[in-house]
This record gives sequence, structure tokens and C-alpha cells, in this order.
Amino acid sequence: MTGRILVVDDVLANVRLLETRLQAEYFDVRTALNGEDALEIVRRERVDLVLLDVMMPGITGFDVCRILKQQAETAHIPVIMVTALDSAGDKVTGLQCGADDFLSKPVSEIELLTRVRSLVRLKSVTDELNLRAAAMQSVGVDPREIFTGTQLKGARILVIDDREASIRHLRKGLGRKVEAEFVTTGPEALEAVEKGTYDLFIVSLSLAGTDGLRLCSQIKAVDHLRHIPVLIVIDPDENAKLRRALEFGVNDYIVRPLDEAELRARVTTQLRRKRYTDRLRSMVTNAVELAITDPLTGLHNRRYLDTHLKSLLERSAEAGKPVSVLLFDVDFFKSVNDRYGHDAGDDVLREFSARLKKGVRGIDLAARFGGEEFVVVMPDTDLELASPIAERLRREVEASPFVTGSGLSLPITVSVGLACLEGKNESAESILKRADMALYEAKSAGRNRVVQAAA
Ligand code: GH3
Ligand code: MG
Ligand code: MG
Repeated sequence: MTGRILVVDDVLANVRLLETRLQAEYFDVRTALNGEDALEIVRRERVDLVLLDVMMPGITGFDVCRILKQQAETAHIPVIMVTALDSAGDKVTGLQCGADDFLSKPVSEIELLTRVRSLVRLKSVTDELNLRAAAMQSVGVDPREIFTGTQLKGARILVIDDREASIRHLRKGLGRKVEAEFVTTGPEALEAVEKGTYDLFIVSLSLAGTDGLRLCSQIKAVDHLRHIPVLIVIDPDENAKLRRALEFGVNDYIVRPLDEAELRARVTTQLRRKRYTDRLRSMVTNAVELAITDPLTGLHNRRYLDTHLKSLLERSAEAGKPVSVLLFDVDFFKSVNDRYGHDAGDDVLREFSARLKKGVRGIDLAARFGGEEFVVVMPDTDLELASPIAERLRREVEASPFVTGSGLSLPITVSVGLACLEGKNESAESILKRADMALYEAKSAGRNRVVQAAA
């Protein structure tokens, strides 16, 4: 992971030190010796993170941070304030200015890289979301809700710690907005993880009876937990453990004695990233769903049917298994539209889809073929089995009238053409064509019936 980092400090030696360390990790580094130049650089080019000294002549680091966070174009750029050691007051001011994190001088290498990596990752997720949001806007989806809402509210956090003082600070630092659950041992943690869903784990590496490192690695090894951030709590002398933990994917750490402002900042960053990553994932899933779903009925669309049927036929022919295809066409549907209006027609199509869906098995595919025509594909089903199913589906349509949104009660019937896979080389087009010819026969013979296709 790389990114462009702007280092701002009025002391050249400090700038060089940070620059060298970051370049060694392949970050692209820009530097500025005062606040004005820093703002100019951010205006001019893309920056993924700002490392900002607090004490500078002219505009201070706090001012720069405030300006960046107030402007819409720069508000999403993470800012790390570099403060003098033990300046709790600076942290509070920094938070008020919108800073995302803090580093105290002298800056340790492991601390620098952990904080920078964590925030550059957050930035890259945010950028990706912004891009997708722009794309979604162009197709008419409102993307604003993605970035709104406080991240802490309602977040579910599992804390694994057994030290009184730590627990007290954690309770206070996390506050009431989050749903925090506290356990004190590894087995309890694993049990909780099994049952509950969480947005963040906070794990002490100094548990009495449990190897905290092992616990973290166990969590990171479970597929559905892998993407949940882990924040560890360590004692000041646990650097070796810390390195191991960061190696296998622990996302951030905080050192005892716990500073509540710092804890909140770190927790917020992890929760934000989790939230954005979740959003990205569901946007991809939704986009895929949209592309293969018929919006009126919620059934799969023609596009999905075509690809699915093709691969199903190939697999089934290979394995010598039967496949049945049912093609449905609602009888005299045009007259529903003509007499009661298009909306009533739409209601009929939705109700028809619902009856179809209810009447088939989970492995069967129900799709809208187009207009008032529908297809059901049944794997592993020969003519003997398919024929009574088709007949039952037809009957379920006829059995009770369709009630529309406006309260009309309409008797509806459907005609069905049924075809089964013939030979090893039959294509999707061919089997659909045969089903269509059978359907045509059903219409000619008086509708409201099932006709089997000739081989
Ligand atoms: P048949 O018994 O021979 O099938 O007669 P039919 O009236 O059902 O068949 P036809 O193909 O003449 O009419 C189908 C109608 O379906 C025409 C079209 O306007 C209507 N239609 C297609 N898609 C939709 C839709 O999404 N909503 C509504 N309300 N009507 C649709
Ligand atoms: Mg038709
Ligand atoms: Mg019709």
C-alpha cells in the first residue's frame, strides 16, 4: 500500500527524519516548512495524509487542520497531529480541530508506520466509495447517505481485557453511544464471537490466563471475522509482541495508561473504515443484484436466465442429468391492461411472480423472460417429474383471483409450454424454442393448459 504523504514541520531536521522513514516504506512524500505552503500543496495536488506539527510560527498546525477539515474538497484527507510529549491539552484541541490521530515527539518508527498505514487505508476506501458514489449518482442513486451519520453510534464492540484500570478507562472512553461488551478471558471471547456480530475487537495483549496474541491470530484466521478490525491494548514494554501482532494483521494499538481522547480517535478511525468497507461491499453486491434482477417482479431477468441456462445445460449434459424448462405466458393479458390500466397489469405480473416463486424449489430458477412471459428452469428434473409440477403451477394461478392494489379481483389463467433437454448438444436457444412452440400449441388449443414439446 502506498500513498502520498505531506509532512509539515518548521524544523527541517524533523521533516527530513519523517521523510526518510516514510520513503523507506515506499510512500511518496511531499514536505512543507510552514502552514501556508502546506495548504498550497494540498490545493494543488492529491494528498492521502497530512502529518502536521502543532507548534509552528505563523499559522499553527491546529489552524491548518481546521482549514482542511472545513473545506469540502479536503475534509476527507486524514490528518495526524504531531504533538509534544504528554500534552493532553493538545490532543483535545487537535480533536476539536478535526484531527484524526496523534503522534508524540519523539516519534517512534513502529508508531509512525502503524498510524500512517491505518489512515492511508481509510483514505483509499473513502476514495473508492467517492468514485462509486459519483457513478451511482449518474444512474440516479443518492449517494449522500454513505458518508453521513456518526460512526460511533450503535457500533458493537467486544472488549477482551482483565485489568481493572484498563476496563474503567475503556468504559469511559468508549462512552454510551457504542454497544460495548466486556469479557476477561479467551474462551469467553471466542464464545461471544461465535454468537454475536461485532464492528470492532479491542484485545489486551497482557491477559492473565490467555495468550492475547494467539487470540488475535485466531480471530484473524476466521473467514467472516477477518474484515473486523482489531485494536490491541499493550503495556509500554511490549514492543516485540506489538510487532508480531501488526505482522498478522492487527489494525492498530494503544498503550497503557489509556488516554481516553486517543482511544476515541483510534476507535473512530477503525469504525469508519469498517463502515465504509461494508458499504463498498454491499454496493458491489447491490450492483450485481440490480444487473440480474427484473425490477418489477424481483425475479431474475432474461440476462441472468441466458447465462444460467447455458451453463446448467452444459453441466447437465456432461453429467447425463435431465433439465426441464417451463415457459409461461399469461392469457389475454393485454385485455387486463386495456380494461383496468397498466398499473393493474403490473400488479397481476407481480402476483403471478409471487405464486411462481412459491411453487418452485430453491434450486429451480424462476425468471421473467419478457413482458408477461416467464420461465422456470428445473435442474435434475425429467418430463415425468416436470409435467405434474407445470400442471400444479397452472392450477395455482387459476385457483384464486388476483387482487390488485386498487382492490380489483381478477380471474387469471396461464398457458405453459414444457420442454426437456434433448441429447448432449442441445443449446439454450433450442430448448427455449421448443418450449415456445409447445406454448403456442397450448394457446391454440384454448389456453389455460400445459403442452409438452415434441423431442
Ligand atoms: P395471449 O393470451 O395470446 O397471450 O394474449 P395476451 O393479451 O396475453 O398477449 P399479447 O402478447 O397480445 O399481450 C401482451 C401484453 O403485455 C402487451 C403488453 O403491452 C403487455 N405488457 C408487457 N410488459 C408489460 C408490463 O411490464 N406491464 C404491463 N402492465 N403490461 C405489460
Ligand atoms: Mg405474450
Ligand atoms: Mg399473453
